[in-house]
Amino acid sequence: MNIVIKNGTILDPKTKTMREGDIYVRDGVFCEPKEHYGQATEQIDATGCIVTAGLIDAHMHAFHADFPYGTNADMMCPPSGVTTVIDQGSGGVYNMDMCLNTTELSTVTIKALLQPSMYGVQPAPYGEIQDPMYVTHERVWELFSKYHDRIIGLKLRTGGGLSCGFGLSTLKEIKKMQKELRSRGYRCNVTVHFGPLDEGITVGDILSHLEKGDVFTHVFRGDSTIFAPDGSVLPEVLEARKRGVIFDTAASVVNMTINCAKQGISQGFLPDIISTDMVRPTQYKRRLGSLIHQASMFLNMGMELPDVIRAVTYTPALTYGITSEAGTLDIGAPGDVAVIKAVPHKLTFADSFGGEVKADKMLVPQLTVKAGHIIYRDALMY
Ligand SMILES: [Zn+2]
Repeated sequence: MNIVIKNGTILDPKTKTMREGDIYVRDGVFCEPKEHYGQATEQIDATGCIVTAGLIDAHMHAFHADFPYGTNADMMCPPSGVTTVIDQGSGGVYNMDMCLNTTELSTVTIKALLQPSMYGVQPAPYGEIQDPMYVTHERVWELFSKYHDRIIGLKLRTGGGLSCGFGLSTLKEIKKMQKELRSRGYRCNVTVHFGPLDEGITVGDILSHLEKGDVFTHVFRGDSTIFAPDGSVLPEVLEARKRGVIFDTAASVVNMTINCAKQGISQGFLPDIISTDMVRPTQYKRRLGSLIHQASMFLNMGMELPDVIRAVTYTPALTYGITSEAGTLDIGAPGDVAVIKAVPHKLTFADSFGGEVKADKMLVPQLTVKAGHIIYRDALMY
């Protein structure tokens, strides 16, 4: 497919710069205009639209075959401008093969973090068993070696009683494993789910185990928070950011409160990554919605458009080590594009806890391109 998207406002998520111009994709990758041979198969007029890299939903649950939380990424993502997703721990050491095999032919790229429990994230009220004895190094190495292009890290849920009395010992074991995997040449992010804190464990305790590039997800939850009693962001959180720890929203229905997000943003504590934590039971229900809804919500909360777009493209790509595969408009990178219109629209975003954001503009996807192929097209883009 030979495609040109003309007359748009190109937002480069890597540099956060904007310019008027055209984007060229040849044989599935971005190319220079002079390399764009012959007649374009598709010429898209993007006048009045933002043209940027295909979006990345860095926290969702995309293994839908045998997992009650799993959503079908091919159905949910393209209309949202999303071309790459990262499944956050739906697969464990014994079911990861099936999770990956049943989504191998997806149009949307599905990367995964492995949760080194037996069967990955388990729905409430059960929860996964997080005994460190299940962090079986040989099996984890085997999976990373077999699926090195798809498994890009390790995931652990903390809090909410999930640690089953093991405290943070499982996290310590996982960090040890990350080091071993990296020494064997594998990319390995560690993402930690911030849940309602277990007795005797503080936000600082969790963060003290995280290093540059590790992710602290559900940063704006309300039942445990990143704020001190006086409302300011905890010094240990600011210190972790300085060290390079990445903070992700991963809202879902219960894992983010709008008031905490407002509180952070008012102090200049913007999320590094905006993601959905989308799961099947709530994928169509109102509350915080798809990635484009959440990006729109943060835009209406005062974040600048380039910051919002970077938080759903380049930052997740950099964090998870996939910049050669997603999140940029670099020449030679896969031709994944989101064409989006910012339109005036009145809407009230609401969370499950009474928080609201009054919006007067929305980001509305017009066209989504995956490796040079159009996978979503708004009726007005014909
Ligand atoms: Zn999740």
